[in-house]
Amino acid sequence: MVQWAIAATWPFGQSAVRVGSRLLDQGMSGLDAVEQAIRAVELDPSVDSVGVGGVPNCEGEVQLDAALMRGQDLAVGAVAGVKGFPNPISIARLVLEKTPHHLLVGEGAERYADAYGLERGPLLTASSLETWRKRREKQAQAEDPSLGGGHDTVGVVALDMNGDIAAGTSTSGLALKLPGRVGDSPLVGSGFYADNAAGAAVGTGCGELIMRGCLSFAIVELMKGGASAQQACEEALNRLICRLEQCLPVRNATEDMTKMAVLAIDQKGNVGAAANHGEFDFAYQTARDRELRIIRARIIA
Ligand code: ASP
Repeated sequence: MVQWAIAATWPFGQSAVRVGSRLLDQGMSGLDAVEQAIRAVELDPSVDSVGVGGVPNCEGEVQLDAALMRGQDLAVGAVAGVKGFPNPISIARLVLEKTPHHLLVGEGAERYADAYGLERGPLLTASSLETWRKRREKQAQAEDPSLGGGHDTVGVVALDMNGDIAAGTSTSGLALKLPGRVGDSPLVGSGFYADNAAGAAVGTGCGELIMRGCLSFAIVELMKGGASAQQACEEALNRLICRLEQCLPVRNATEDMTKMAVLAIDQKGNVGAAANHGEFDFAYQTARDRELRIIRARIIA
């Protein structure tokens, strides 16, 4: 029997890891654990970048992206630009299991969720609306068309007792994004990737940059080639930074729109993480060491 392990992006990923650990310890699949772990974060209104209470777009609407991947057979389920469903990760699960497709967007995804009776619910909270108003005012006063900060993703990677690997993501994307904008999080290979043959990876930060390097796929490929999860995160992120800095200031990022971070797990449950800024912490727990740890990612300088 394999010793399970699970990790999630950001300190708010603690609740995801707590839920996922309990399920993995009961012998449930990595896919179930990742879905349930992400649902816990989506339902927490105090997490202001995922699910209920997530950041609204420039029109004041919350549009959510989410994805799940099964490392056994590389099956993917993803949704983008979904409104009115607190748990887009469960729509992604339906896409993975019930459709011949991998990605459904907007109204099509919502209609599919309705057909399976998934719960609808409000996503805007008093606090997310207030933050949105302030951001809009600041943007108007500064005559600055740039997007607001305050975006994050819950990305979860897990190894279950059978040795199966899974990855998942969920986010409201960039604050004040254009309606219909889709980030890296529901794009296979960019925001997430999982392959039993090597491991899994997820990303968080500016999706427009992460997707240019197909970062999650790059990390898993490096692990396939023999790199550890830590080496693969550092190497893949560094390669992208080296390429992008020829045209953009992405090293030692201070601007929100140039920040990127990655998290990976290998077939033994070892994790790695890297960021181009000093603020990325992740939550991690294993069957071996039952303590939930918050770990700071290595900075690519
Ligand atoms: N990667 C997400 C997106 O671009 C946001 C984030 O993780 O900060 O939609």
